[in-house]
Amino acid sequence: MSPTRVLVLNSGSSSLKYQLLDMRDSSRLAVGLVERIGEQTSRLKHTPAGGESRERGGAIADHDGALKAVAEELARDGLGLDSPELAAIGHRVVHGGKFFTEPTVIDDAVLAEIERLIPVAPLHNPANLTGIRTAQALRPDLPQVAVFDTAFHTTMPESAARYAIDVKTADEHRIRRYGFHGTSHAYVSRATAELLGKDPAETNVIVLHLGNGASASAVRGGRCVDTSMGLTPLEGLVMGTRSGDMDPAVIFHLMRVGGMSADEIDTLLNKKSGLIGLCGDNDMREIRRRVDEGDEQAELAFDIYIHRLKKYIGAYYAVLGRVDAVAFTAGVGENAAPVRAAALTGLEELGLAVDGERNAVRGDEARLISPEGARVAVAVVPTDEELEIATQTYALVIGSGNHT
Ligand code: ADP
Repeated sequence: MSPTRVLVLNSGSSSLKYQLLDMRDSSRLAVGLVERIGEQTSRLKHTPAGGESRERGGAIADHDGALKAVAEELARDGLGLDSPELAAIGHRVVHGGKFFTEPTVIDDAVLAEIERLIPVAPLHNPANLTGIRTAQALRPDLPQVAVFDTAFHTTMPESAARYAIDVKTADEHRIRRYGFHGTSHAYVSRATAELLGKDPAETNVIVLHLGNGASASAVRGGRCVDTSMGLTPLEGLVMGTRSGDMDPAVIFHLMRVGGMSADEIDTLLNKKSGLIGLCGDNDMREIRRRVDEGDEQAELAFDIYIHRLKKYIGAYYAVLGRVDAVAFTAGVGENAAPVRAAALTGLEELGLAVDGERNAVRGDEARLISPEGARVAVAVVPTDEELEIATQTYALVIGSGNHT
């Protein structure tokens, strides 16, 4: 019998999210999160399947301490990391550059390449590397697999992946459009085809991943042909705290006329822009509550958000030529019916519409919200990045079994 469990780790600079999955039925055996690593007030929240959540406070100095604490909690549930049932550890790695097109078993060369990509992912890749090295130290014998946020987008043609800037300068500094949220776009585009009863290889889908970070992608026959994030996650849609698309000259203007430094502008555009910059809130629930009360600032923020989203839907319709489905996913996409309705309003000529009643239904399952007989299906498809990471990891280490 092959081992059947996969531990998925998502390491941030001060956090560690984890899920232990049983790949026989893709079920969660345990999920949890360590927050505020490196502070006095670290917190571990651990939830075993079918059991009560447990919390642990106190200082956890580093990722090594965090993973050891996680291992102890898992062991209390009989799910210890020393178990022969554990097949592999799958790591979310944000930036895989141009060359990591697939999930990859981690060795020294892979670690060196992830490290070499730090200049294009200064916030994420160092944290991901720390998570990998910590897990390797704990179980040096176990395969560790990197699943890259960028990998799904490496199929983009050069016409979509290149910026129209001097080629030599671009290549020297590895400037191109990489795209992110790829694990989600891969999972959701495939799940959408399955919802329609179609072969993913013959299905064209526009995926709208609308969380706090947000991105759109155009997927032709299971392969990404365009996506809205670029060199970094700043490009594209209006997000919770990011501006998305903008004339790059705004930056020179802020430097020359506003006297701001590169770091200040980085913070402005990544942390203080988007919905929070426009109206002071980045949670769509709060924005909708304010809109319903007649708050004009919140209404303008909502309108700007929807305008950008609609432009991308139109653009990707044109990129694909034929669209089988538009799929909404992530926190906003899965929950905010007014966003879905507004984004497609006026696109009936393109065969795109939302059925009011279907759109109002809440649920955790993938579902259609377009009217009966619509030319293009509109769907809500909950994303599951951890399952996708576990599936890709397991397939690489053990080979495809009866998991989906
Ligand atoms: P991320 O992974 O990018 O942090 P999520 O995909 O979890 O984000 O999405 C978080 C966002 O989803 C919140 O900021 C909020 O705007 C939105 N959201 C969550 N639940 C709802 C809801 N019931 N209605 C509207 N928006 C929601």
